[in-house]
Amino acid sequence: MNGTKTVASVIVIGGGAAGMMAATVAARNGADVILFEKNEKMGRKLRITGKGRCNVTNDCDKNEFLSNVATNSKFLFAAISRFSTADTKEFFEECGVPLKVERGKRVFPVSDKAQDVVSAMENACVSSGVSIINKKVEGIIVENGKAVGVIADGERYTAKSVIVCTGGASYPRTGSSGDGYRFAKRAGHTIVPIRPSLVPLVAEGKLCAHLQGLSLKNIGFKVKDMASGKVVYEDFGEMMFTHFGLTGPVVLSASAHLYDIESGKYVACIDMKPALDFKTLDTRILSDFAEFINKDFINSLDALLPQKMIPVIIGMSGIDGRKKVNSITKEEREKLVSLIKNIEIPLSGFRPIDEAIITKGGVSVTEVSPKTMESKLVSGLYFAGEVLDLDAYTGGFNLQIAFSTATLAGENAAWSSFE
Ligand SMILES: Cc1cc2nc3c(=O)[nH]c(=O)nc-3n(C[C@H](O)[C@H](O)[C@H](O)COP(=O)(O)OP(=O)(O)OC[C@H]3O[C@@H](n4cnc5c(N)ncnc54)[C@H](O)[C@@H]3O)c2cc1C
Repeated sequence: MNGTKTVASVIVIGGGAAGMMAATVAARNGADVILFEKNEKMGRKLRITGKGRCNVTNDCDKNEFLSNVATNSKFLFAAISRFSTADTKEFFEECGVPLKVERGKRVFPVSDKAQDVVSAMENACVSSGVSIINKKVEGIIVENGKAVGVIADGERYTAKSVIVCTGGASYPRTGSSGDGYRFAKRAGHTIVPIRPSLVPLVAEGKLCAHLQGLSLKNIGFKVKDMASGKVVYEDFGEMMFTHFGLTGPVVLSASAHLYDIESGKYVACIDMKPALDFKTLDTRILSDFAEFINKDFINSLDALLPQKMIPVIIGMSGIDGRKKVNSITKEEREKLVSLIKNIEIPLSGFRPIDEAIITKGGVSVTEVSPKTMESKLVSGLYFAGEVLDLDAYTGGFNLQIAFSTATLAGENAAWSSFE
């Protein structure tokens, strides 16, 4: 240990969405704040959110927000009541980032640039008087049941409160590599086992590899539990085949509803024509067949399916592709309709946590006060953002979790430092 630096009333660990918000709020509430960020720049993950556009929140009310939180939504009642989705919008508009609302009430910067969100948050920190130190925190100092500082680069930095905003364990190259779980565990906290969520799905067989690179829009997507036949997820939208399986918006959303995928547990079902019921699709195929009456079956599906999919569907149907359309039987046609309405792909797992948008699990919320985000085990220790055992579906809800929990943590850490 090189020495001690008594520096701040509040130390924030991590300069991501939660850390920058917590630091700004604490400083605006009168605290001397130091924010430690181990990367050269803050907000590396924030910069890649929403495919570089940053879906900053969702334009919904409190109840709709809570219904989109997959894990521990009740814990967030006080946080979202204190700092709502409307507050997030106001915060960014006031920081000079005009916003727009898109499909599914998703809120984005008008510029479509996540970098504008990062810059606004950085400016908010700096203009509120937050000191930023680009060092990796190695540990939290706890004395007599109280957090009194952190260790970074072998030096002690003391403070009256410490807010842990180190994020989850997904996309570790952005800096969120799970350090906060280790800090919390050492302080006596329970860590709910972490696992990926909003993550691509691995499929069995070679079908997906054959269709690799193919994107499907406006499809129906279901995941069924094979044992019970129960539909555990159903949506419409966009997906893509990859060498390992499935990805894209509906697939990532589905992953948040699945538990412990193992071979034989779940099957994904793709409906290529969700707008047409069985009968209407059959009529449509009959009229296509009438048009291509003397063609081979394999050459009669161009108007119905993407090129790459035609040989695959024909293979699955068991109908000879060289058969003339005029000799296809009613049974064969019905089999084709059933297939187009329900391509079944057995699933075998999640992709690794590195590829997940969100980490499920983390610091158990049963040991954290929902009204202040302070640890119930160590006074002066606060948590905010993805490090907590909280996660939501896609649509801007995860960043809102970060902003709401960070606001509570920032305010309460600042106030308690004056006591
Ligand atoms: C590809 C992708 C797209 C996404 N898109 C969206 C979206 O559009 N909308 C949405 O709502 N959510 C989105 N998310 C989720 C969202 O990014 C996270 O929920 C959010 O960033 C969590 O904020 P956080 O501050 O808790 O953690 P992070 O943003 O991960 O920040 C943690 C910070 O802590 C720093 N840190 C970690 N350990 C230490 C240490 N020991 N010392 C110092 N610093 C440390 C890290 O370097 C990092 O900067 C997306 C996630 C990914 C991966």
